[in-house]
Amino acid sequence: MAVLDVVKYPDPRLREPTFDVEVFDDALQELVRDLADTMFALNGAGIAAIQVGRLERVFLIDGRVAGRNDDEPVVFVNPEIVEEGRGISISEEGCLSFPGVFVEVKRPRWVRVRAKDQHGQEFEIEGDGLLGRALQHEHDHLTGRLLVDMVGLVKKEMIKRKMKRWHSENDGEADARGDEGSPVIV
Ligand SMILES: [Zn+2]
Repeated sequence: MAVLDVVKYPDPRLREPTFDVEVFDDALQELVRDLADTMFALNGAGIAAIQVGRLERVFLIDGRVAGRNDDEPVVFVNPEIVEEGRGISISEEGCLSFPGVFVEVKRPRWVRVRAKDQHGQEFEIEGDGLLGRALQHEHDHLTGRLLVDMVGLVKKEMIKRKMKRWHSENDGEADARGDEGSPVIV
């Protein structure tokens, strides 16, 4: 079990270009296990590899969010959004890379994602609500797109100030953590 440090905004590593996974080897399985440990430890609904400083195109979504009966995370390797629509939904989102920051984000209500699992098996998943939102949020991470890019100038400055304060008050050990009743953190 390894709970990894989560990279926090404005760390430039969150903007690095990511790359497709080509080999589904032991190193990938270890990355997936560490991401799962980190996601569960921080009570996130999802996590992307780039949030722990890794540039493979990989993210995980909590199995319960994905509508599974167990909490085994669903693993997305080389994911792409192949379809989206059914209107627009606006809802608050948090992010493990932005402790304490919640912003309203407008997104397509529904998406279909095609990906491979950690063993290279292709699958598709579709979802709206929390799942649709988590899929889009995590997919954004793989393109370097962050919550701070989804808001207007005033809110952007507020987020920057808040994160500056967060960094000055924390020694880098503290992490965002979902609480009962708080909006989804992904
Ligand atoms: Zn995030």
